[in-house]
Amino acid sequence: MADIIRLLPDHVANQIAAGEVVQRPASVVKELMENAIDAGATSIKLIIKDGGKVLVQVVDNGKGMSETDARLSFERHATSKIQSAEDLFQLNTKGFRGEALASIAAIAHVEMHTKPENVEMGTHLRIEGSKIIFQEVAVTPLGTSIAVKNLFFNIPARRNFLKSNQVELRHITDEFHRVALAHPSIGFHFYNNGSELFNLPVTNLRQRIVHVFGGRFNEKLVPVAEETQVVKISGFLCKPEFAKKSRGEQFFFVNNRFIKSAYLNHAVVSAFEGLIKNTNHPGYFLYLDVDPKSIDINIHPTKTEIKFDDEHTVYAILRSTLKHSLGQFNVVPALDFEH
Ligand code: ADP
Ligand code: MG
Repeated sequence: MADIIRLLPDHVANQIAAGEVVQRPASVVKELMENAIDAGATSIKLIIKDGGKVLVQVVDNGKGMSETDARLSFERHATSKIQSAEDLFQLNTKGFRGEALASIAAIAHVEMHTKPENVEMGTHLRIEGSKIIFQEVAVTPLGTSIAVKNLFFNIPARRNFLKSNQVELRHITDEFHRVALAHPSIGFHFYNNGSELFNLPVTNLRQRIVHVFGGRFNEKLVPVAEETQVVKISGFLCKPEFAKKSRGEQFFFVNNRFIKSAYLNHAVVSAFEGLIKNTNHPGYFLYLDVDPKSIDINIHPTKTEIKFDDEHTVYAILRSTLKHSLGQFNVVPALDFEH
């Protein structure tokens, strides 16, 4: 029998990988904003058109890229963030897979402008469906701008699967909230179809929450602070009387990365036991800092799930810390409270 196994061409492999990394425009928003943060940006601008289907652009004032790096950044498994497998256990960056830009470029029209410090001219590059259309020297400010147009232009099935502009914008806004809440020390702008949705100045966490969710949040927040050998916990709970029937504002960040965890959510809910109706959901903005060696964030391509070495201990510390915070604020039971 003849041999039939072949290696897939790069552009096909990239398209397949893209299916995992990029589900919708909001995934592009997440990846581009995380890259801007990893590049040390202090100011990040997000520009969207038509729910991100027509355009997702992120402009940062981070460290930029050299001419060669600009081209290499679109290669699969090309990254400046890790060098060895050991580095995976001490990650200080959001990215490390070197897959995002390669994936995005496989399924969209991408235009990049980038310039590092101490050089006069930057790079302007266009890549479409993994194919570099041109790369030229260009006048461009320090930092990087990446514009992603016509997402899934070459995968009609995926493009048709996208929801209305309004729904896609909601997903994008969720991602924006997560990144903005994780980084109050970075300034953010967010424009949708030419109008400004958010202008978030550099500030502290309490003010950032208020800027994102509105002034009424200021009186809702109960501060949380605890530091143990295993985990440092900070952030805010919403007072029990503001618990809602819908889930609303529930945010966990581990080492400044937004994560989803039903298990840790359970710890929060159980700290509110007796203070809210069990059909209501508490609001929270909780930041856990742990030794990077004690977690594995490599278990999911979009990295919203992580694995703790010692989940039970984190759960127990979290629960007792939150109970203490709620107790300190002399919170009265809100069982009869109606919304
Ligand atoms: P990863 O973030 O996992 O390294 P990406 O595909 O997202 O993979 O990016 C590849 C590389 O391109 C990064 O490691 C980084 O060196 C460079 N890069 C991407 N975006 C930016 C940016 N906004 N500013 C500076 N460098 C960037
Ligand atoms: Mg990245």
